[in-house]
Amino acid sequence: MRLDNRIDERVNPQKEALIISIIYLVLGSMFTSLYDSRFFIAISTVLIYFIIYDRVKRIKKMNAVVYESLEELSEATKGLVETQEKLYMEKMLSDNIIKNSSLVIFTWDLDYKILSFNPYAERVTGYKEEEVIGKSWVDLFLHDDEKPKVEGLTRYLKSGKPLKNSIGDVWRTKDGRNIELIWTDSPIVDENNDVVKIISIGTDITDHKNLVKRLNKIAYYDGLTGLPNRSLLEKEAEKIIERARSKDEKLAFLYVDIDDFKQINDTLGYSAGDKLLIHIGQVLKSNEKNNYYLSKLGEDEYSIILTGVKDKEDVIERTERILNAIRQPWCTDNYEFNISASIGISLFPDNGDNFYDLMKYGNMAMFHVKQRGKNGYFFYQDELGERISYNTFIINHIRRAIEEEEFKLQYQPIINLITGELYGFESLLRWYNPERGYISPMEYIPLIEETGQIVDVTFHVLKMAIKQKKLWQDMGFKGFVLGVNISNKSLMKCGIDEELKMILREYDVDPKELVLEITETVFADNIDYCIDSLFGVRELGIRMALDDFGTGYSSLAQLKRLPINYIKIDKSFIKNLSRTTEDKIIVRTIINMAHNLGLYVIAEGIETKAQRDVLIELGCDYGQGFYFAEPLDPVDVEATYFVKVEKNA
Ligand code: C2E
Ligand code: MG
Ligand code: MG
Repeated sequence: MRLDNRIDERVNPQKEALIISIIYLVLGSMFTSLYDSRFFIAISTVLIYFIIYDRVKRIKKMNAVVYESLEELSEATKGLVETQEKLYMEKMLSDNIIKNSSLVIFTWDLDYKILSFNPYAERVTGYKEEEVIGKSWVDLFLHDDEKPKVEGLTRYLKSGKPLKNSIGDVWRTKDGRNIELIWTDSPIVDENNDVVKIISIGTDITDHKNLVKRLNKIAYYDGLTGLPNRSLLEKEAEKIIERARSKDEKLAFLYVDIDDFKQINDTLGYSAGDKLLIHIGQVLKSNEKNNYYLSKLGEDEYSIILTGVKDKEDVIERTERILNAIRQPWCTDNYEFNISASIGISLFPDNGDNFYDLMKYGNMAMFHVKQRGKNGYFFYQDELGERISYNTFIINHIRRAIEEEEFKLQYQPIINLITGELYGFESLLRWYNPERGYISPMEYIPLIEETGQIVDVTFHVLKMAIKQKKLWQDMGFKGFVLGVNISNKSLMKCGIDEELKMILREYDVDPKELVLEITETVFADNIDYCIDSLFGVRELGIRMALDDFGTGYSSLAQLKRLPINYIKIDKSFIKNLSRTTEDKIIVRTIINMAHNLGLYVIAEGIETKAQRDVLIELGCDYGQGFYFAEPLDPVDVEATYFVKVEKNA
């Protein structure tokens, strides 16, 4: 508001006083002729002038002051209106924020009674504002175990200081769910600076927490078995080692690998493989409850840390318990499987003082168990390192050995013991490596069985042997059987019969002259599954021999069910045949039993005439061994036997 100042500017005190004084003087003089009176009038005119001048001047001054005050008042009113407008806007804004916010906002008094409750709070808790007003939020939302901490919170807030990001309360909603919130609490004070109420703003972090939990699960747990994975093991193992170190305790790291897992995966499919992994996970979990940290490493590998270890005997006892639990038969898809595992053990602090070394040594020891025929345990020893590097060399060079034709076959004659004539040959694999020289099949067959490379090698051998048979056939050298050793794993490979059919057709060789030598351990392990694939092979006309008979566990009853034509008695029984009666009884029993089942018997490892004579006496059909001939190169086979066959012809 602007005031009109013009009147004030126009008023001149001198002029006003002069006009009034002159009027007074003129009028006064007109009504008197006395000198005394006129003198008095003159004097009083001067006085009137000064009095009026002074009065007008004062009035003008007062007017200016009033005007100034009015100006100030007008400014103040203007400010007040602006503040009011601003306050109104701010209220609108905060009301809007509180109403539409995605934050839980509520106010409460010092008795925890709820004073206001925003729509978002209604949404997440399920309560309407009118249901909660006047009620204690502590009683309404908090679980009993959360309640005690509220007192401390209020004590702090009463000091007038706000509290930011106070970590999560768990609130119980109307429908009984739990939600987690993170809070900022601000006290509100009155004119005396006393806290009268508190405004609490909460962020609902339930989804975030769940996501973190889920991510945590993915990052630290195996999806299939739910067991801790390698990353979590790493973290936990360091803590376990640290604890053991401080208490001067021993630990055992067990590296557990399921035997022939790849075989189950390849033959029964991945879903059966997954079932087995879950099954083993459960078996291991329920084995020991305390002093036991179980985790899942790679595909079919688990790790167990045994704590509270007394001595080596204690580790052996606990490991054997684990192995026995795994060995219990496992059924899937109507088949029963005998599962076994290989366990490598490293000890803290004897073998290493950190997780990585202990795992590495456990793994080496496990690998050693595999090479020694699986299904057992082994404690890490320093010499293992060398052995492992040799094995690694083998595993890394197998493929190249096939491509570079480093594999050759030798053929060992099988003789008809009655007539003394040639009955056939067994093909035996020879690997001449440019760096390492001759490497025995006993060294690499168990190894590559475990890696699965055996399947490629077996088919390579089959092709080489059948190709050789064809070459001899074309030379006119025929009418004998050819034995080829087949690993258990290759036999269980799906479609082995199809592949054999193709090779036989390609080389035009009579299937009846092919004998697959299989070892009996395969039957001891997974007899039901094997029989199916063996019958498929027999359909092709191919014959089968059960190799190394007597070293495994197959029973007579099992033998009866197998589609085999020959039994090969293991050389360990032949060795002492002429000297001890015990082995003689065993061999006689085997021969009689085989004959009763309509099977022929081949004796392996005949080194002396005496052994041969006993075998003839016991009625053995065929024999093979250094006494007759060592395994020979094809040229030597031709020089010795083709000539004989030709002569006989
Ligand atoms: P096997 O099938 O029992 O083969 C017979 C083994 O006895 C051969 O050893 C042979 O050289 C040896 N031998 C033959 N006559 C005598 C003898 O009079 N006295 C003694 N002490 N030994 C004799 P080799 O060639 O070292 O083969 C060892 C094993 O390796 C074989 O045992 C067989 O299980 C496996 N193998 C050999 N070649 C192959 C193959 O091509 N594929 C597969 N899967 N395994 C093979
Ligand atoms: Mg053999
Ligand atoms: Mg044998």
